[in-house]
Amino acid sequence: DSTDFDRAVKSVCPFCGVGCQVSLKVKDDKVIYVEGIDGPANEGRLCVKGRFGFDYIHHPHRLSVPLIRREGAEKGLNVDPGNWAEVFREATWDAALEAAAKGLGGLRDTHGGRSVAGFGSAKCTNEEAYLFQRLIREGFGHNNVDHCTRLCHASSVAALMENVGSAAVTATFNEIENADVAIVIGANPIENHPVAATYFKQFTKRGGKLIVMDPRGQSLARHATHMLQFKPGADVSMLNAIMHVIVEEGLFDTQYIHAMTENWDAMRAHLADFAPEKMQAICGIPADTLRAVAREFAGAKAGMIFWGMGVSQHIHGTDNSRCLISLALMCGQVGRPGTGLHPLRGQNNVQGASDAGLIPMFLPDYQSVADDTLRGNFSALWGGAEFSAEKGLTVTEILDAVHEGQIRGMYISGENPAMSDPDVVHAREALAKLDHLVVQDIFLTETANYADVILPAAAFYEKSGTVTNTNRQVQMGRPAVPPPGQAREDWAITIELARRLGLDWGFTHPSQVFAEMKQGMASLENITWERLEREGAVTYPSLTPDDPGQPIVFADAFPRAGGRAKFTPASVIAPDELPDADYPMVLTTGRQLEHWHTGAMTRRSKVLDAVEPEANCSLHPSTLRHLGVEAGGMVRLSTRRGSISVMARADRAVSPDMVFLPFAFVEAAANILTNPALDPYGKIPEFKFAAVRVDAV
Ligand code: SF4
Repeated sequence: DSTDFDRAVKSVCPFCGVGCQVSLKVKDDKVIYVEGIDGPANEGRLCVKGRFGFDYIHHPHRLSVPLIRREGAEKGLNVDPGNWAEVFREATWDAALEAAAKGLGGLRDTHGGRSVAGFGSAKCTNEEAYLFQRLIREGFGHNNVDHCTRLCHASSVAALMENVGSAAVTATFNEIENADVAIVIGANPIENHPVAATYFKQFTKRGGKLIVMDPRGQSLARHATHMLQFKPGADVSMLNAIMHVIVEEGLFDTQYIHAMTENWDAMRAHLADFAPEKMQAICGIPADTLRAVAREFAGAKAGMIFWGMGVSQHIHGTDNSRCLISLALMCGQVGRPGTGLHPLRGQNNVQGASDAGLIPMFLPDYQSVADDTLRGNFSALWGGAEFSAEKGLTVTEILDAVHEGQIRGMYISGENPAMSDPDVVHAREALAKLDHLVVQDIFLTETANYADVILPAAAFYEKSGTVTNTNRQVQMGRPAVPPPGQAREDWAITIELARRLGLDWGFTHPSQVFAEMKQGMASLENITWERLEREGAVTYPSLTPDDPGQPIVFADAFPRAGGRAKFTPASVIAPDELPDADYPMVLTTGRQLEHWHTGAMTRRSKVLDAVEPEANCSLHPSTLRHLGVEAGGMVRLSTRRGSISVMARADRAVSPDMVFLPFAFVEAAANILTNPALDPYGKIPEFKFAAVRVDAV
């Protein structure tokens, strides 16, 4: 009976960056079902994850007591999450927090603050992200704090900061309603941002022209006027060829370029070398198609560009984003209704966690740690705290530093590097090597297998706090049910750990943390906790205490010196690891509709696990025939870093020389295979391209 519940609580879906608002129906302190409500990003809609992916919070594997590793218990993937007693012993909160503080604080006192690093979480609230970075900076005196943005949009952020002056989207995805042409590149929104995809489909239904660009086929192509299935890793050659046509045929917006941008002459000269007729062999798209797409986008009255991990997760990820920014700028497609640049954010709070300063080179609101004035402002806000002006290490650099013996202790909250990092064997060896590892999470994750102390945290539907979606909409998350057993909200745990490390912050509620954040973050001007409680969501920037927020920014000026955006030319560079005789195919990884990242939550959601229960990869039918494997049979995938066995599906969306592998399955962990080579600017790994061999099992 859908009306048989005790209470209904409004919150935000904990999965993707769309940030759908939900109503949680609760009976006997259990969420029994979820409905979409009228949030600004979803207008009542939900996808299968939002609708059915809630019962993980009541799963018997939930951590409900603090745990301390038993003396002498070996570290490694040997702990049954439902039966940990041989490896860990139950502890009181006091004992666990003391052990954590003694472990990390002891390393600080003996080896210096730089011997301890932190990974915060994009699944925690803004207030929790803020406290986490404050703990590392204030408590350990440096900036070695990062989170999963490093693995998703760090290269997009690098390019946007460089050329636009702001890392957030210039327009909400809902602005597609006012566009007549849109490009979706390196993103598969029907699977990964499903509710955003509904707006994209509506756009085409009313005549909007959609151009999809992706090395892998996808169902959004059914709605597209053009599907450019380019060769993996050939984005820059394709995008430069499109821009070449716009220059050659004079389709650019001279007035906009002169008024709003800089470095046009250099860009124009650079593009001379990229004629489509020359690039077609490199990118695999016929010159005529490249010319047609260039004309279509440049001819738009209002055009938008959306992109995802297919763009960002390359060693040339920053170059890819530079090209997309340049394409929009030369056509004057920023700052008006129906125009804009929109990197689709993955996690429900990756935008907010980044805004809150969970980044090694930036304080909250992307204020450089190297700037003495900005650093001084935060030092004053934090009672005179002293911390380094040196940019911190990023996620993958921190794990390398563990191998090198420079980092000996870590505090990891809500991240799972033992599954999510590239070349995960290297990452697991680093975790095993740590002198002291504190993991704070809702399940005994693969990373928690290496912990010395495990602190049980509340799930999103059990906590208070704000989150910021891909649209810059700050939304209020509200607790619907209590956490299991002794589990606590992350903000409260971080405060207690900080207190034992000598930092007495005095916060007793996230609203007080939000109030402090407002003092250091101009983006939160006119946004108050009370407003968010009352209105549910406010988009930043909000110009007055009543303004619901600005969906489009940078109409008159960009937040760069001189107010102008910049063209940065990008040259073609090859992927780090090209196929050869030993590893002749290309491996690319990603998500599936039903599963979320490392699978800790969705594989414990009954319906989602039932729909997609098995580790799988996708191969073209001709590749399967060549291997002598039936669809549904097993194959072995091997790269220079390791190999896995996995069930193969026949899928014409992948080309015959390519394999697609989702990364949610621990029994066939994709990141055993992936290449850790980094983009030099965003320091993002090349998850989207590795040389691989496929064998029948
Ligand atoms: Fe949740 Fe994203 Fe699905 Fe919305 S689209 S219900 S935010 S997973």
